[in-house]
Amino acid sequence: MIVLKTSRELSIMKEAGRISAAALRLAGEAVEPGVTTAEIDRLAEQYIRSQGAVPNFKNYNGFPATACISINSEVIHGIPSKKRVIREGDIVSIDLGAKFEGYHGDNAATFAAGEVSPEAKALMEVTKESLYEGVRAAKAGNRIGDISAAVQRYVEARGYSVVRQFVGHGVGASLHEAPEVPNFGVPGRGIRLLPGMTLAIEPMINAGTEKVKTLPDNWTVVTLDGKLSAHFEHSVAITADGPQILTLV
Ligand code: MG
Repeated sequence: MIVLKTSRELSIMKEAGRISAAALRLAGEAVEPGVTTAEIDRLAEQYIRSQGAVPNFKNYNGFPATACISINSEVIHGIPSKKRVIREGDIVSIDLGAKFEGYHGDNAATFAAGEVSPEAKALMEVTKESLYEGVRAAKAGNRIGDISAAVQRYVEARGYSVVRQFVGHGVGASLHEAPEVPNFGVPGRGIRLLPGMTLAIEPMINAGTEKVKTLPDNWTVVTLDGKLSAHFEHSVAITADGPQILTLV
């Protein structure tokens, strides 16, 4: 069932989104060679709790941390660790969110550690821009497939591939709710977008094959060919006045 949010709910979600976005910015600013992913996770958790919110990934299906931190060929769901040290040239995808007064924010971005290769930089740029392509298509009256196709078209025209095994989702009183928001699809297909819907749009884009696998830790998803992957995400409200990004600082 797709839940349409009232304006009161949307204003709470805006605050959950603000906290999520500020935590992500803080985490991203901490990405540097020599820092461990556990240190970044701790900074994000401290900030979220300081705002009277809770880290909504923590203990979700047993996930042990505030942030998913996925490096280079890791696509999503990397587990922060004291043993995992970020190195010069890494690209670091951080996905996290906050629950505030019963409502969730969810966002992600990929950050560069020091100087990264031109290939890595290009992948990050295309992934980020594809998110905004998807956001622009998130208009009342459009359909889910319009968002999906906008992301896919932008990415594939530039020679990258769209992960299909994982998709975006509705977000609200639950972290993951209906509908699914794939990053691939056909324009004009799928459910119609209505004011009050709130969606987490999150392209996961690979430099090589779209195929992924899950590591034996049962969480970390990596590219099958070992090539780089990037991930950008915003929580977005469909409104009569167009898409409104909720995860803004
Ligand atoms: Mg998400």
